[in-house]
Amino acid sequence: MDIIVLKPSAKDKDIKHIVKKLENKGLKANISKGTERTIIGVIGDTSKITEDEVASVRAINAVEDVMRIIKPYKLASREFKKEATIIDVEGIKIGGKKIQVIAGPCAVESKTVVNKIAMEIRDAGASFIRGGAFKPRTSPYSFQGLGEEGLRILARAKEITGLLIVTELMDHRDLDVMLKYSDIIQIGARNMQNFSLLLEVGSINKPVLLKRGLSATIKEWLMAAEYIMSRGNLNVILCERGIRTFETATRNTLDLSAIPVLKELTHLPVIVDPSHGTGKWNLVSPMAKAAVAAGADGLLIEVHTNPEEALSDGEQSLKPDVFANLMKELKPFAKAAGREI
Ligand code: PEP
Ligand code: MN
Repeated sequence: MDIIVLKPSAKDKDIKHIVKKLENKGLKANISKGTERTIIGVIGDTSKITEDEVASVRAINAVEDVMRIIKPYKLASREFKKEATIIDVEGIKIGGKKIQVIAGPCAVESKTVVNKIAMEIRDAGASFIRGGAFKPRTSPYSFQGLGEEGLRILARAKEITGLLIVTELMDHRDLDVMLKYSDIIQIGARNMQNFSLLLEVGSINKPVLLKRGLSATIKEWLMAAEYIMSRGNLNVILCERGIRTFETATRNTLDLSAIPVLKELTHLPVIVDPSHGTGKWNLVSPMAKAAVAAGADGLLIEVHTNPEEALSDGEQSLKPDVFANLMKELKPFAKAAGREI
């Protein structure tokens, strides 16, 4: 808490009360009385002040607002680490010059389908295959994923193609089996604030792909990353996947401004998922290009050999030839952004 703005109605006794509160915490107050209102500057090490303590000052009737200069997240902040974090996943670097592409079906459906998709996306230039074995479906009656069998199918596709595996963890009880098969563990939008799950993946030594929550602010998202990092796992990749707005023309509103905002606030790599971000396959290519132009470190794109028959998210999945074409079309955008793809 660095600056406390008082209401015009604040009395001298209110100021005294706040100054005393600060002094009790070993801090000093710099009081600046204007014609309209008084502002208290807090002097001392304010980094140790907790969010709860800030809330207790906000609760004082005479206080209009409290502005923090120190960010509530530390390990994730640019102040903490100036240079961009490059995450090395089995030799593939995320956050470096090369833009990395993660592609694959929404859900792992069968060995044949996954192997076919894997070969197509590998040939087109992807480095990672994605696919959910445990699916967070809105309806309990929708396809929920194949579980461990799905992970084994991904492992087989990795053997055939050399693609690394990104797959979602929903329940901490599946962590051991996940560690056995995955190269990056995805935490989905619906679990972005599942704090106990975040702490679990904070204690492992595999990179975590943290999707933005459906209605999460960038600050809340970075606080979620901080939960993971606070346990020692500093390898967090942020994935913008669209947020809920009033717009109904798209499934979500892909917040591309989050990329440059995050680049200022954090050293962590930022990737973009235009598939969930738009919900429509024909919008995926333009938004993927825009994401690269805006400075994304990678893309996550749903690809299916037969979107019509896909067990989930067919309407936003690219056919392999469209994906391959996009990979070619991305080249000049990557070059313009000073990157490679
Ligand atoms: C997914 O990647 O298939 C997924 C479920 O994404 P999200 O958590 O962003 O909805
Ligand atoms: Mn999906």
